[in-house]
Amino acid sequence: MMQDYKLASSIEEAVELNKAGYVFLAGGTQVNRSPFLKHGHRPEKVVSISGLDLSGISREGNEFLIGAGATLQDIADSHLIPDVLRRAAGFIPNRSVRNIATIGGNVGAKRPDSYLIPTLMALGAVAETVAGPVSVNEYVDGDNETLIIRFRIPPLEGACRAIKESRSHQALPVVSAAAWMRAEGGAVKEAVVAAGCVAPRTMRLREIEEGIVSGKLLESGQALEVAVAGAIHPEEDILGSREYKTYINSVLIADLVRGLAEEVLK
Ligand SMILES: Cc1cc2nc3c(=O)[nH]c(=O)nc-3n(C[C@H](O)[C@H](O)[C@H](O)COP(=O)(O)OP(=O)(O)OC[C@H]3O[C@@H](n4cnc5c(N)ncnc54)[C@H](O)[C@@H]3O)c2cc1C
Repeated sequence: MMQDYKLASSIEEAVELNKAGYVFLAGGTQVNRSPFLKHGHRPEKVVSISGLDLSGISREGNEFLIGAGATLQDIADSHLIPDVLRRAAGFIPNRSVRNIATIGGNVGAKRPDSYLIPTLMALGAVAETVAGPVSVNEYVDGDNETLIIRFRIPPLEGACRAIKESRSHQALPVVSAAAWMRAEGGAVKEAVVAAGCVAPRTMRLREIEEGIVSGKLLESGQALEVAVAGAIHPEEDILGSREYKTYINSVLIADLVRGLAEEVLK
């Protein structure tokens, strides 16, 4: 149970309190909520970072900058950023949550069913933390819990798409994935495929990426589905059996990859 709440007046103060055991509190829609409590229990001490002016969405040259305190609704409404990210923010089912939940909290929570993390990974986003820049991929993959100040997204070359699947608009997803590809000379030269809902953390499907770039997995839809099924490890839970989740993810991720390949190769 929460015993102590502090409102940080500077980034330094927030970081010092965090070192003393205070958990960062942004929108607060996840920090105290089951399922997916980060350390298996509710934090006793929190430091609110909501007064630190970490929001704001802007462009720097061709790069996109999104403050960690930007809400998911800010992102869904912004015309400064790639459409795919706006769309992914809109996957979070209701405006009340989107108005409070932040992008920093979404990545910080590292939920396996995050709607934003796959897209940020696919876009090659970097989390600028108080300890320096780190790719969203590395931040989510490891134990890094340093304060994220903002996200930097490189210029969008090629094309990027995100997908979600849930049994109802409000239900938790069984599929949350994104892919990015760049083609040159009639062939896919680079690819990223990131999937949530298939492992304890959102993961890159690197074997699939290699198979796309080599062209092998673009030859047959069936081979692509089988390869995706072999690369993912969903767990059975109230949303579905392992078999169902493997099936639905392999079909939809294969569709995503095929559709994107057609788009960049046309
Ligand atoms: C009804 C409902 C439905 C939801 N559905 C989804 C869903 O489908 N998919 C999904 O991904 N989430 C979902 N969420 C969870 C949550 O809303 C999001 O993950 C949200 O983006 C978290 O943001 P927040 O600002 O509220 O984070 P908080 O709850 O404040 O924090 C979450 C975690 O991130 C850390 N943190 C916060 N800010 C930072 C920062 N700047 N740097 C580093 N760490 C930080 C905190 O310490 C904490 O561990 C849902 C929540 C609710 C209430």
